[in-house]
Amino acid sequence: MKYYSADLLIPVDQAPIEQGYVAIDDFGVVHSVGKADSLSSVDVKHLPGLLMPGLVNAHCHLELSHLVGRVDTGTGLLPFLKKVVTLRDIELEEILHQVKVNDQYMYDRGIVAVGDISNAPHTYQTKEESSIQYYTFVEMFDFLQPTMTETTIAQYQEVYNLLSQTKKNQYSYVPHAPYTVTEDLFNQINKLNGGRGTVSVHNQETPPENELFEYGTGGFHDFYAQFGFTIDQNIVRNSTAIHYLIEQMDPNCKTLFVHNTLTTAEDLKAAMEWNSQTYWATCPNANLYIENRLPDYQVFLDNDAKVCIGTDSLTSNWQLDIWEEVKTIKRYKSYVDFNEIISWATINGAEALGLQDSLGTLSLGKAPGLVHVDMKFDSMNALQLEGTTARRVC
Ligand SMILES: [Zn+2]
Repeated sequence: MKYYSADLLIPVDQAPIEQGYVAIDDFGVVHSVGKADSLSSVDVKHLPGLLMPGLVNAHCHLELSHLVGRVDTGTGLLPFLKKVVTLRDIELEEILHQVKVNDQYMYDRGIVAVGDISNAPHTYQTKEESSIQYYTFVEMFDFLQPTMTETTIAQYQEVYNLLSQTKKNQYSYVPHAPYTVTEDLFNQINKLNGGRGTVSVHNQETPPENELFEYGTGGFHDFYAQFGFTIDQNIVRNSTAIHYLIEQMDPNCKTLFVHNTLTTAEDLKAAMEWNSQTYWATCPNANLYIENRLPDYQVFLDNDAKVCIGTDSLTSNWQLDIWEEVKTIKRYKSYVDFNEIISWATINGAEALGLQDSLGTLSLGKAPGLVHVDMKFDSMNALQLEGTTARRVC
């Protein structure tokens, strides 16, 4: 048994404990939590600053790790997507190498579970060998072209089938975004998943996305024209993009909406009424990288929405580090309570991925991992996160 104490222990399932300790066995299982001064005659390792459970990255594209620094910041989503599409062909060896490097990087930064998008099988070997738990989302899109739906399904069933040869991780089929998936493809995805597991979808990341579904106009027409596609006018719903998603997706699956930069209270309420198991992944650094904006978190707080945190990919972020996302939220939206953000970064992500029985809190019997942030601690009200780094203890 090992005993760790810190100036502030954040168990997440109970209030933070100043000068708290946690006892963890050789299998990583939590045996006790409490005030450090209640311990006597045991060897306690004191770590200055914070201790908390392992972090959960609810939205990542590990397979794009080789594209770090290749796409300009601040262009908006449509130019960003165009650039990413043209960048995808890179030597396989380099792709596989960067996948491995960044899996290790996430591990070192205290990430214990990842909801990871796959359009290709490049990450599977690394995920199988990793100490991180991955939930792989095999992501489909047919660019709203009914003529492409069947070939899309065949292509991604192959990617999915390769996953079923791996042993330890969970996976599902998921749609990419409202603006890239036909009704037929949504139906097929629903059938393939059979109402089980978690399904993720990119949601309301850029103003033209809402405009397309509300009025049938906007930047997506030009975007698709560059690839020789036109968009059928049947797509218009006279309501925002998320309404198209909840009309098409299966409410029996846990649903992880990703980005939600433009999601309003009305959007949120409609989705939460549609499905009682909705989760809302925010990727603040990616939102700043691509569109220079952040979601209105007050809307999510007001409606008790389950927010979790993702890094998105290294095409749209400087690092795959959930603690950096926590710092960004605190820097730009300091009205969000610190303990609330930590529950976003831990238990909410674990729940979204169905891993709440073992991860997300320092609860007795769980093996959630332990993360240390070395920082000066005076009081809960005067936390200085800038310049700090999260590191895995175990
Ligand atoms: Zn993404």
